[in-house]
Amino acid sequence: METITKILNGSGIAQTIRARLKTQIARGPKKPGLAVILVGQDPASKIYVDFKTKASREVGMYLETYHFEENIKEKKLLKLIDKLNKNKKIHGILVQLPLPSHIEDLSVLQRVDPRKDVDGFHPENVGLLAMGYPRFISATPKGIMHLLDHTNIDLVGKEVVVIGASNIVGKPLVQLLLDEEATVTVCHEKTQNLKVHTEHADIIIVAAGVPKLLTADMVKKGVVVIDVGINKVDGAVVGDVDFEKVKERASYITPVPGGVGPMTVAMLLENTWEAMCAIEGYRPSVI
Ligand code: NAD
Repeated sequence: METITKILNGSGIAQTIRARLKTQIARGPKKPGLAVILVGQDPASKIYVDFKTKASREVGMYLETYHFEENIKEKKLLKLIDKLNKNKKIHGILVQLPLPSHIEDLSVLQRVDPRKDVDGFHPENVGLLAMGYPRFISATPKGIMHLLDHTNIDLVGKEVVVIGASNIVGKPLVQLLLDEEATVTVCHEKTQNLKVHTEHADIIIVAAGVPKLLTADMVKKGVVVIDVGINKVDGAVVGDVDFEKVKERASYITPVPGGVGPMTVAMLLENTWEAMCAIEGYRPSVI
């Protein structure tokens, strides 16, 4: 039987989520407030921050943005976080990673009030997720789970291969997939033979940052492929999957751009909305 590939349109799904949030915010008791902190001049980080701030404005959130020079002292950053933790207008605090090497990620991330940690990077939130009681799920893995939900494929017992084991994508994703009772294999740059793992997988999620890492000969027919990678090749943005060829064998596949990226932004907004509801003790009606 021929496989008809369906493109998982992250942009469209994210747009629906943003529209829903906009309505909820308009009806809510208080504008959710997001503080975004960017350090240095990393061009990719600047682009991500622009996407996030534009989207939060569009849904009607209150926004504070802070952009510091690369050489900012860690103490100054921590002082700002202390202030934001107390600020009643702010419900979510996002520190754009990576931080410069003289600043320790952990010191900064654990200074954020865990109830305002909309990125889900605070050790308390990481621990809650690991124990199966998620409070804030980091935006990219949460967005990927939403996309999988759209395939209507029951994850129970499915063979899922995750390529990439970072704290922000691969590791939290493993927890979420296990909670759905999938059988999960995690591969990384020291994995000896990726194909041995991928060729039997029902679902493959690639988050390595290596263009064309997943090729058509590595996947079985009917596979679901989620491409998280964002790479620049000859001026174009591409993912980690050889999209045109893998598409011929997949039942579902995400494009890059327009797949996981917009979902990440939408999930950050959703987390900020949820933070506002929790902090203000507001129970929204379902729409
Ligand atoms: P990272 O560098 O922190 O981690 C990369 C992971 O991939 C590591 O576990 C590494 O071992 C593994 N890896 C690297 N090369 C590999 C190879 N040849 N074979 C198998 N595994 C390999 O990266 P990250 O922050 O997790 O991001 C991964 C990619 O996802 C990047 O391209 C990044 O830009 C992208 N990203 C996209 C979004 C989004 O919203 N779409 C969000 C976060 C990250």
